[in-house]
Amino acid sequence: MAETGMAGPVLLRVGQMFDGDCAVAPLADAGIVVGGRRILDRGPFDGMRDRWRDLPVVDHGDATAIPGLVDCHVHLTMPGDSTLFEDAAARSAADRFAQAQRNALTHLCAGVTSMRDVGSHRDLPRWRDGLDQGMPRMVLCCAPLTAPRGHMYLWGGECSDLASIEEAMRRNVEAGSDAVKIAATGGSTRGTVPQKSAFTQEQLDAIVRAGHRYGQRVTAHAMSIRSLDMCMAAGIDGVEHVSFLEEDGAPSYSQATGEALARSGTVVCATISTRSRSIELIEKGELVDPAFEARKARARSDLENARRLHELGARIVVGTDAGFGSIAFGEIHREMTGLHAAGFGIADLVHAGTFDAARYLDLDKVGRLAPGWAADIAILGGRLSEDISCFTRVKAVYKAGVAVDMRATS
Ligand SMILES: [Zn+2]
Repeated sequence: MAETGMAGPVLLRVGQMFDGDCAVAPLADAGIVVGGRRILDRGPFDGMRDRWRDLPVVDHGDATAIPGLVDCHVHLTMPGDSTLFEDAAARSAADRFAQAQRNALTHLCAGVTSMRDVGSHRDLPRWRDGLDQGMPRMVLCCAPLTAPRGHMYLWGGECSDLASIEEAMRRNVEAGSDAVKIAATGGSTRGTVPQKSAFTQEQLDAIVRAGHRYGQRVTAHAMSIRSLDMCMAAGIDGVEHVSFLEEDGAPSYSQATGEALARSGTVVCATISTRSRSIELIEKGELVDPAFEARKARARSDLENARRLHELGARIVVGTDAGFGSIAFGEIHREMTGLHAAGFGIADLVHAGTFDAARYLDLDKVGRLAPGWAADIAILGGRLSEDISCFTRVKAVYKAGVAVDMRATS
């Protein structure tokens, strides 16, 4: 496993510490006491050293400590190397599990200690539940509920009438799902149209109702303004992406829908960096895309929409869509940088990618560097308050108090 044991409590020293709760100011020259799986204490380093005199000190120099990151939107069984969804979904269970294992460790080494898989086959819980310690925390949605031949249908969640909705939901719950994902519109799956609604209002209402009956939060891949409105009308908990497509497929924005998202407290997993790597690959000549200009326009529009929603006070959490298309695991820094460009201050950004995301995923005592909370910690090279690129320099990661072996994926 990708862990080296940690013997007894230890005092970590860092140049800067963010709590994860943006109401708590960042602290310079901080000490964090880790004991077992939890944080025992934290505060100015000198005070910590006095109070915990006998503990060995692990000095991380001028690095910044933040809670382990929480990625609310990944696809663990997908390679993120431009492989088509149709090809990846056809792989054997053994291949998919091996892919999930590599992806989870790659993300862990990038500081992601918790993640939500929002689309996979129904056998993923079997893989997760068979793992030892040393992997990120995983919240799994299993097969997204989708229209017949709808977006992501190859994972097995096709449904239409009320009976088949009930059955698809029940099969996910039986398989061990923790949350619900809906494909409320088409997407990149061949034969689907991103701005086209996949379900009627009555069907969406039934899906949200069924999910809530099982005590699960429900989120929707919703690419259009109309689908965002329909999902909110159904009482959905969260929406994925901020594309706000018009009926003709043009990227746009709706002030009324934005205000409704903010007012209702619907959680928005913005995924605004999904095109950043493919744009880079195209510019380097490693990927060909005749719709390059359209791709860039969508990326700009997503960023602007995130900015508008943030200004309105919408609840935005961090998600990458890692696994799909060219979106690689281990690159959550792209989303952090994107949200920063969309107007998030550093403390707000850390909050959106740790404490608030963990609360949304119902992870107990995860997402803060505070006494009694899980010792999930990412150590970033440099002073994060002054340098957003610190997210590209992950020096060490602790998951449940244990230092991750950073060579795991190299
Ligand atoms: Zn996705």
